[in-house]
Amino acid sequence: MNVYDSGRMADAMVKSGYAETKDCAEADLIVLNTCHIREKATEKIYSEVGRLKALRKKNPDLKIAVAGCVAQAEGTEIQRRQPAVDIVVGPQAYHRLPDLVAKAGSGTSVADTDFPLRSKFSRLPRNRLPRGQVTAFLTIQEGCDKFCTFCVVPYTRGAEDSRPAAEVVEEANLLVERGARDITLLGQNVNSYNGVGPDGGKRSLADLIVELSKIEALKRIRFTTSHPRDMSQDLIDAFVECDKLMPYLHLPVQSGSDRILRAMNRRHTARQYVDLIRRIRGRRPDIVISGDFIVAFPGETEEDFLQTIELVEEVSYGRSYSFKYSPRPGTPAAALPQIDGDVASERLARLQRLLRKQQQECQRNFVGRTVSVLFERKGRKPGQLVGKSEHLHAVHAQATADCLGQIRKVEIVRSEANSLSGKLVSVREPVGGSPRRR
Ligand code: SAH
Ligand code: SF4
Repeated sequence: MNVYDSGRMADAMVKSGYAETKDCAEADLIVLNTCHIREKATEKIYSEVGRLKALRKKNPDLKIAVAGCVAQAEGTEIQRRQPAVDIVVGPQAYHRLPDLVAKAGSGTSVADTDFPLRSKFSRLPRNRLPRGQVTAFLTIQEGCDKFCTFCVVPYTRGAEDSRPAAEVVEEANLLVERGARDITLLGQNVNSYNGVGPDGGKRSLADLIVELSKIEALKRIRFTTSHPRDMSQDLIDAFVECDKLMPYLHLPVQSGSDRILRAMNRRHTARQYVDLIRRIRGRRPDIVISGDFIVAFPGETEEDFLQTIELVEEVSYGRSYSFKYSPRPGTPAAALPQIDGDVASERLARLQRLLRKQQQECQRNFVGRTVSVLFERKGRKPGQLVGKSEHLHAVHAQATADCLGQIRKVEIVRSEANSLSGKLVSVREPVGGSPRRR
């Protein structure tokens, strides 16, 4: 979501005469877009600003802004701790960034962490996806009402809010016009999407996907991140009924222990989650499942942890993201007695060994098979292109540059650490982009 937001902030600055640069030494404005989800990310900002402010020696007009959830959570405290920061801007105020930058120009530091009544989306300029980019993110929903006891999102991103369906479709059309062929719909709880439709009625995520799939040149639709409690039947059915919805689902579980799930306020049991995965695979057997895990949540015993291992063995994940619990100020779990750091590290290592093994198995299953790859960019080796398969594996193959932005058949010959490599089978794009599934 921060990648998407960063793009939108860059769009917002265009009318003030700014253009993007990849080189900080060239910049008149540097925006650090931050994440507050774990402590490590938060601490990095202060060291980064310390480093960047040295650039003022060459460019005294350089302005430094801190955006994102750290800005939201810490507000003007950031400028107190690090006076080199000129602007603090929370995630709901990005449309006001140009004004804040103009005000900061007069030598004062400014902060905006308001939650305005009218959504920023209606006031941000149109999305200017860079030309040549074939994959795009599109935020459809923000905020969260679930209040898991470890998580800062409900505090930093606020209450759940879905963008109107027509606004999403319009932005998707625009992205496609600029060359996007694979769009990932984003939300902290994307599958609880509940946006208003043009007739005033509500639209579910499945409805929205059906609507978006009518955009001819859009070939692939994905969404992230989903909550197990909001995995409705119409959304599960969409994996079968909608050809453009790709067979990959990120469905975090956090823990395999019911006791810990309850303490986390996840509001489902381990069995309910496993049954849900079984139902999804019953409809779409080839789907790749990925998940998030937290180890050493306060009170987690070895027994609880082993239940997470058991759940992972039962589900088998194609990809995963796993973390040590990180106490976040203001969240209920932060006040509980914490688990010893060495115990946490050891559990994380054990869990990650298993998850890595499962990822390798999932990748190896594709060796010898022919997959559809949307080529995105040049690879590191000469003559090589890199793209994504339908199952979201990065795939390398020798191919000419005219394949960029195109979907091609590739026979997978090898599984690497985090990607697949293969050889081109089709020279022409299959009819309709992605082939229909059997
Ligand atoms: N809405 C999604 C997850 C959003 S946060 C869901 O409910 O599943 C992304 C991931 O960060 C979470 O799935 C969790 O695994 C991790 N995370 C969030 N807060 C954390 C914390 N305090 N410590 C460690 N990991 C955390
Ligand atoms: Fe955070 Fe996800 Fe829980 Fe919401 S559902 S509080 S975003 S972990």
